[in-house]
Amino acid sequence: MPRKKFVAGNWKMNTTLAEARALAQAVVAGVGSAPTVDVAVCPPFVWLAGVAEVLRGSPVALGAQDVHYEKKGAFTGEVSPGMLTEVGCKYVIVGHSERRHGLGETDAAVNHKVHTALEEGLRVILCVGETLAERERDLQERVFQRQVYAACAGLTDDQFDRLVLAYEPVWAIGTGKVATPDQAQTAHHNIRRRMSQLYGEKVAGALPILYGGSVTAENAPGLMSQPDVDGGLIGGASLKADQFLAIVKAAGG
Ligand code: PEP
Repeated sequence: MPRKKFVAGNWKMNTTLAEARALAQAVVAGVGSAPTVDVAVCPPFVWLAGVAEVLRGSPVALGAQDVHYEKKGAFTGEVSPGMLTEVGCKYVIVGHSERRHGLGETDAAVNHKVHTALEEGLRVILCVGETLAERERDLQERVFQRQVYAACAGLTDDQFDRLVLAYEPVWAIGTGKVATPDQAQTAHHNIRRRMSQLYGEKVAGALPILYGGSVTAENAPGLMSQPDVDGGLIGGASLKADQFLAIVKAAGG
């Protein structure tokens, strides 16, 4: 079965509640009732409930930007996967580079989060990608293998059905330095080949692999038309409804 394209907006630590609701409203209006592309928005935790109300009844899904790896307990300031499903989340981003590199999130913590989130019924958008220093040393394949192998340790075939991979080269995130369509296609093709070696052709063939890193309305058509690019995880450009909707359109929506 051909993979359906998927575009998700990562709003990061941006928007007021009013802005978040207005942005969600504009995305819902622009996406229409029967998009051919899956679409999700990931607001800050505190706006999830307010944005969920706006998305209700629409095909635009709600996602969170992170989750804790335990289901409940004494973890001050944290949010559990069950809380996310209860507020209406279908997706959660795990292992974003801003958490790995800025907040010291380890591969082991990412693996724990992936398991707990999947067990609670969420779909996981698992972020992987090399830093500039790693790319300059031609280590991207090794970094990918380490991150994915660690993050996916212990997953069953059924759980892979609810996994989305986001290839986000760290040098391209929020920098305006987007990968070229050729670079993205080569990376995604290599990732899929490696996934096939690690987990089999069925898992690799069905796995959506999103590109993330400075995607804009202008560069999206080139990126989204690559055969192994199954959509995008969009940061900055997801904060402007017209930009985000143009990216959704470029993905075929
Ligand atoms: C991201 O943070 O996941 C991202 C891709 O950001 P940007 O689009 O702003 O580079």
